[in-house]
Amino acid sequence: MSYPQSGCKGFCATCSCDHYLHQGTSLQHAFALMQSLSEQHRIDFETPLSAADPDCATAWLFGEARGKMFGILECRDKDGRTIVLKAFSGQYKTKWMVQGWVPPLFDPDEYDRINIPAEREIKHLTWLIEKGHSENRKELMDERRLLSQKLMQDIHSLYRLHNFKGESATLHEAFILPKGLPTGVGDCCAPKLLNFAAKNGLTPIGISEFYWGKQNKSKTRKLGSFYPSCQDKCEPILGFLLCGLRR
Ligand SMILES: [Zn+2]
Ligand SMILES: [Zn+2]
Repeated sequence: MSYPQSGCKGFCATCSCDHYLHQGTSLQHAFALMQSLSEQHRIDFETPLSAADPDCATAWLFGEARGKMFGILECRDKDGRTIVLKAFSGQYKTKWMVQGWVPPLFDPDEYDRINIPAEREIKHLTWLIEKGHSENRKELMDERRLLSQKLMQDIHSLYRLHNFKGESATLHEAFILPKGLPTGVGDCCAPKLLNFAAKNGLTPIGISEFYWGKQNKSKTRKLGSFYPSCQDKCEPILGFLLCGLRR
C-alpha cells in the first residue's frame, strides 16, 4: 500500500529559494494518532474519560460539519530526544486550545476580546437588514461589509509567526504574495506546528497532515488520507516559517 506524500514547502523571500520539510518518520506518529482518534472518539486524550469534554468528541467530524485536517510534527529537542507535536486545523468546534495540542498563532483571549463584540454587531446588522427598512438597506449592508473587513484585519494583526532564525513576523510581513490575506491563513496545522517548535527550541524532522472525518463537499479530502500543505494559505507563509531550519 502506498500513501500520498505529505510534507510542506514555501518560497523564502530572504533566501530567494524554497525551504522544505518532508514527511520522514512522522508518518508512524500520524498513524498512531489516527488509531487514538478511531479508538477513543475524542481529542482530549489527556483528560480522564470520566471528565471528557463533549465538545472534544470526534462525532461532529462525521456529521454535517464534516472532517478537518490534523497534523503531526516530529521534532528533536536540544538533547536529541524525540518530541511529537500535534495540531488540529482552525478551531475544534469553538475551541482554539485543547490540552496536548499546539496553540494557535495568537492569544485566544485577545481573539475573543476583538471577535465577540464585533460578531454581536454584525449579527445585529444582519437582523436589521433582514427586518428590511428598504430605504437604508444598502447603507446597512455597506456598514456590515466594512465591519467584517475591519474584524478580519484586527484578527490578522494578532498573529505572530516565529521561525528557526529566531525572527518573528506578522502575517502581512510573512505572506509573500502581493494580494490580500486569504481567510484562515495561519490556522492550518503546519503553521501552528512550526511556530510552536520554533518558539520552544525544537528542531522539526518530519511533518504529516491528514484528514479525519466525513469527506469534504468537494471530495478532495478523504478520511485517513495524507495531503501536502495547502497552496493558497500555507505556502506563502511557509518560506518564512521554515527559514533557519537546518537538517
Ligand atoms: Zn494550509
Ligand atoms: Zn530563508
